[in-house]
Amino acid sequence: MIRLYDTARGEVRDLSLRSPGRVSMYVCGPTVDNLPHLGHGRFTLVWDVARRWFTFQGLSVHYVMNITDVDDKIIARASRESRSENAVVTQYEAEWWGAMDRLGVARPDDTPHATHYVDEMVELIASFLERDVAYVTSDGVYFDVSSVPDYGLLAGQPLESLRVGARVEGNDEKRSPLDFALWKNAKPDEPRWPAPFGDGRPGWHTECVVMSLDLLGESFDLHCGGLDLKFPHHENERAQAEAAHKTFARHWAHNGWVMVGDEKMSKSLGNFTSLTELLEMTDPRAYRLLVLRSHYRSPIDVKPSTIADAERALDRLDSLARRFGLPVLAGENLELASSHAWEDESLELFERVATLMNDDLNTPSAVAELFDALSSANVMADEGHEASARRLAQSVSALFGALGLSLLAGSHVVDEVTQRLVLQRDAARVARNWAEADLLRDELVERGWIVEDGASGTLIRRP
Ligand SMILES: [Zn+2]
Repeated sequence: MIRLYDTARGEVRDLSLRSPGRVSMYVCGPTVDNLPHLGHGRFTLVWDVARRWFTFQGLSVHYVMNITDVDDKIIARASRESRSENAVVTQYEAEWWGAMDRLGVARPDDTPHATHYVDEMVELIASFLERDVAYVTSDGVYFDVSSVPDYGLLAGQPLESLRVGARVEGNDEKRSPLDFALWKNAKPDEPRWPAPFGDGRPGWHTECVVMSLDLLGESFDLHCGGLDLKFPHHENERAQAEAAHKTFARHWAHNGWVMVGDEKMSKSLGNFTSLTELLEMTDPRAYRLLVLRSHYRSPIDVKPSTIADAERALDRLDSLARRFGLPVLAGENLELASSHAWEDESLELFERVATLMNDDLNTPSAVAELFDALSSANVMADEGHEASARRLAQSVSALFGALGLSLLAGSHVVDEVTQRLVLQRDAARVARNWAEADLLRDELVERGWIVEDGASGTLIRRP
């Protein structure tokens, strides 16, 4: 049984699924107005690891992450740079996926864009106005939070302190400082969509409610995001679902902050304020390992020393891969990892790691177990127990694979096309379509891989 901290209940509890064997998860994605930053890298890695772990545990995962492609910040950049909003969105969405691919974050199953859901949002806002849970002001439509009796649940703070916090910015016509914009009337030259309550654009909080319910359905399992989204964004999503009489997420999960240490950044490592810069300067696997070595709910410190530390640890992993000639795990890493032969020390290791991961994704202890096993494998090999050492090393590699980290001497994460080819080849082999399997092997070889047939499927490695 997988247990996770639920922000709504304030406790670690069983992840109770809507349908047994299936996890539906919604992760609030980026606003594409700028280069991705370190916080983006962390939340995508945290939830990528969760998704991979669920899959490794035999669950089938439906993973949705939205792209916010209409927003004040996008409009501001377009106007500052005298270009269209569309040009800004296209550029920064491409930067986003480029960074995700380098991080080895698997693509979501669905990536809804806010601008594709404006009609549905207009409909929802109109229904709120009809039922008097929203009201019109001179600059747009606002949601009346007093219409939701338990408003503030996710914030976990008294309403009064939230109200004081929200008072700073404001529109005098708002009935409460906590009321939030559902719709913003368009000023001249701003992008606009028609609506019965005035041409304009949707507010940010509405897109996620509409898109998550459309793609995952009511009572979906898991709503995730960074801690900074807990309030007001997630609370405002939840309030709208309540007001619409829809059962929303069963479970809320939030990951901790990224601190950029006070340590002076050295010129050679650079001052990585953007994820893009960090990925240019380091092995992208280092950030995943750094994220794995902290609990997802704790803050992490990203600075040259913690990155260098992760890179040294990667060296140890890569040396293990070299010593035992371990294959690269591809094909989502998971099919291979889950069908690996677990026996003796490997089985014990697997069980310890699984117990830790299933207890609120305790990646730091799981990774510590894997590094201990790595040392044991080296000792066993030094003492001449080559076969059991190799089995243990393979298990370490398989379990890191389940967490999305490939052990590979001096190499990079297996790219998406390669992963797809491996999966297609495995499927062809299962279907005994040997001609197709051979063609796919040739394609992999052309991409520079050595291809071997393992008991559990296609194994690939670099020459
Ligand atoms: Zn959201």
